[in-house]
Amino acid sequence: MADNKRVPVREQDAKVRATNFEEVCYGYNLEEAKEEAKRCLGCKKPRCVEGCPVSIEIPDFISKVKEGDIEGAAKVIARNSSLPAVCGRVCPQETQCEGKCIVGIKNEPVSIGKLERFVADWSRENNINLSETKSKKNAKVAVIGSGPAGLACAGDLAKEGYDVTIFEAMHEPGGVLTYGIPEFRLPKSGVVQPEIENIKKLGVHLETNVIIGRTLTIKQLKEEEGFDAIFIGSGAGLPSFMGIPGENGNGVFSANEYLTRVNLMKAFREDYDTPVRSGKRVITVGGGNVAMDAARTALRLGSESYIVYRRSEAELPARVEEVHHAKEEGVVFNLLTNPKEILLDEQGNVRGMICIKMELGEPDESGRRRPKEIAGSEFEIEADTVIMSLGTSPNPLISSTTKGLDVNRKGCIVATDEEGLTSIDGIYAGGDAVTGAATVISAMGAGRKAAAAIDEYLKQNVL
Ligand SMILES: Cc1cc2nc3c(=O)[nH]c(=O)nc-3n(C[C@H](O)[C@H](O)[C@H](O)COP(=O)(O)OP(=O)(O)OC[C@H]3O[C@@H](n4cnc5c(N)ncnc54)[C@H](O)[C@@H]3O)c2cc1C
Ligand code: SF4
Repeated sequence: MADNKRVPVREQDAKVRATNFEEVCYGYNLEEAKEEAKRCLGCKKPRCVEGCPVSIEIPDFISKVKEGDIEGAAKVIARNSSLPAVCGRVCPQETQCEGKCIVGIKNEPVSIGKLERFVADWSRENNINLSETKSKKNAKVAVIGSGPAGLACAGDLAKEGYDVTIFEAMHEPGGVLTYGIPEFRLPKSGVVQPEIENIKKLGVHLETNVIIGRTLTIKQLKEEEGFDAIFIGSGAGLPSFMGIPGENGNGVFSANEYLTRVNLMKAFREDYDTPVRSGKRVITVGGGNVAMDAARTALRLGSESYIVYRRSEAELPARVEEVHHAKEEGVVFNLLTNPKEILLDEQGNVRGMICIKMELGEPDESGRRRPKEIAGSEFEIEADTVIMSLGTSPNPLISSTTKGLDVNRKGCIVATDEEGLTSIDGIYAGGDAVTGAATVISAMGAGRKAAAAIDEYLKQNVL
């Protein structure tokens, strides 16, 4: 069928949205969602579910949408996901559920992410209560970090009746959902905070401004605070740099710092006293989701925004939708280009960047073609701000203050895949702290698996 196309989703006009922080995508309304749901074939062996890291029963929830039973659809999703409004917005569906959808072989795949988002938003707007908890159990669990891994783990354990406390280093919960992914992709008060509130409604206690490894150690949590099991979901917040000349100059940021200052400290709002310096011309180095977020944020703060990435468009690790949106809004892509030096003026302020042109050689260990410098192709770009978005690794604070907790050579906590058990009995870990920077859904999946393992551990050793 040549005309078996997705129901298009409404979005803010590219020129207008490039000047504001409001959400880019408006999502489906009920009629649009029902129409899109009709495209699902309700497969007996649904390939989409195989592609979902938390195995949401996709055909079941879509069939409920088709019938107009949105509360029923929300209940189906809630069996496997505690953050559907977040995942419906930021999951890389094109490589997961939608990438496997049978309709996608000849036509556009079913818009599973937008349907999930619709169901989650509808149930929030209609105050649907999806939380069912079992009777209280006499055991205490500490969860370190309130990102998707910690929230998912805490939510599942609270549903089982455990007494769960999340310890969060920042003054606001949510991890990268709150301070990394910008407002225009993931609204904080409209979407992230209500999903966190739902988890608190399950009885989870949340203590912010507590840095484990500094305010309290893991040993103290066990021996003095009486926690019977611990989950570490502390993420991967330590930014990488290139080690090129000029990287310590004024006006060079890590993407983490830049985005945190804008998201968490509201640098984009005139009524806040914590502005960020976003100059006239901003260069973001990198090609992942984080780089797209930083470059699009710079644009919204009134700067000209450039991406510098050493491979070609085909290798950009960011979601296709994010690259498309960035281009539409006016971010300029300098592909097959690598920085050699950041140029500074006499006061140490950024004034430009020396770059070199690259070409692609043989595939490297990641399977992507290795970029090689083209000799003599150096050139200069003018800029007054540089944002380094080259990936992150876990902060060593917890591992360095916890005797016997094994980490690998990248500083990631070593844990079993299926259960998240670390080298210490009763201590589990998951999410970016274990895998290095990954995705919201994989962190959530790891948090849920660890919750199931902690439940077993407590039944066998404590209850
Ligand atoms: C800008 C940006 C954009 C992204 N875009 C996407 C996207 O579009 N789609 C996608 O799927 N993924 C995206 N990701 C990746 C995704 O957000 C992460 O993989 C995910 O948030 C990891 O979850 P986590 O719970 O493991 O860690 P985090 O979300 O990092 O949460 C860890 C939490 O632990 C806290 N913490 C750390 N150390 C301590 C300590 N010692 N004591 C107490 N608390 C501590 C931190 O403050 C933080 O709140 C993006 C990441 C960034 C940075
Ligand atoms: S694979 Fe596609 S058509 Fe089949 S059940 Fe999943 S979403 Fe529906």
